[in-house]
Amino acid sequence: GGRWSLSGMTALVTGGTRGIGHAIVSDLAAFGAAVHTCSRTQTELNKCLEEWQNLGFKVTGSVCDVSSPPQRENLIQEVASTFNGRLNIYVNNVGINFRKPTIEYSTDEYSQLMAVNLDSSFHLCQLAYPLLKASGKGSIVFISSVAGVVSLGTGAVYAASKAAINQLTKNLACEWAKDNIRSNCVVPWATRTSLVEHLLKDLKFVDEILSRTPIKRIAEPEEVSSLVTFLCLPGASYITGQVICVDGGLTVNGFQ
Ligand code: NDP
Repeated sequence: GGRWSLSGMTALVTGGTRGIGHAIVSDLAAFGAAVHTCSRTQTELNKCLEEWQNLGFKVTGSVCDVSSPPQRENLIQEVASTFNGRLNIYVNNVGINFRKPTIEYSTDEYSQLMAVNLDSSFHLCQLAYPLLKASGKGSIVFISSVAGVVSLGTGAVYAASKAAINQLTKNLACEWAKDNIRSNCVVPWATRTSLVEHLLKDLKFVDEILSRTPIKRIAEPEEVSSLVTFLCLPGASYITGQVICVDGGLTVNGFQ
C-alpha cells in the first residue's frame, strides 16, 4: 500500500505487446499491480508474458481485437474472472492511424479507424465500469495524441478520434466521480514505437519534428508510461478529468 505503490491493485492495459502499451504494463507491474493485457497476436503475446514472468511480474494476457464488440465482451469477462470482478486500473491504449489527406479516405477506412480508436474506447469503458466501481478505487487512463489538440497533418480522422477521447476523459471524470472512479488522459507526441518506426526513417520528417519540439528529440515509450503510472498511484487521488501532454513542449511552442 501507500501513496507510491500499486501493490494489491489490478490493471487492464490494451495493446501491451509493443510500444507505449508494453512500457505501461512493465511500469504498473514493477509498482506492484497485477496486470492483464491483450493484443491480436498470440505468439508475440506469449513471448511478452514469458519475459514479464521472468522479471517476477504478475502479468496475464489474452488475444483480443478491440475493434470487435464480442471480443471486447470476452476480454472483460476474462478480466473479471482473473481479478474476481474487481479492477482498479483501466488503460485504454490501442490506437491506429491511416496517414492520408481527408479527401482520400474511403468509407471503410473511416469506419475502421473510428472502430479501433473511439468505438472500442467507449464500449470498453462501459464494460469495465462495474469492475472499476466494485474495486472501490478506480482509475481510467486514455492514451490520446497531440493530434487531438493541435492540427498536425497526421490525418483529420485520427485527430477527431483523439479529440473525442480527450472529451470522453472529462465527461467520465464527472459522471463517475461518485463511484470513486477517476479518468485522465495522457497525450503523447512522436514516440519511438512500431507505430511510427517507418516515419522515423524519413530524416526530413524527423528534422521537421525536432525543429518544432523544444526538447529536441523523439520520446521513448518509458517517458510516456511514467505519467500513466503516476496517474494510477494513490498519490494522484485528487487528479481527475485532466488531459496532459507528454510532448517535449510542442503544444506550448509558439514561435522561436
Ligand atoms: P504500436 O503500434 O507500437 O503498438 C500497438 C499495440 O497495440 C501493439 O501491442 C498491438 O499489437 C496492439 N494492437 C493494435 N491494434 C490492436 C487491436 N485492434 N486490438 C488489440 N490490440 C491491438 O503503437 P504505439 O505504442 O505507438 O501507440 C499506442 C497509443 O499511443 C496509440 O493510441 C497511439 O495513437 C498513441 N500515440 C502514439 C504516438 C507515437 O508517436 N508512437 C504519438 C501519439 C499517440 P497487435 O498489432 O499484435 O495487435
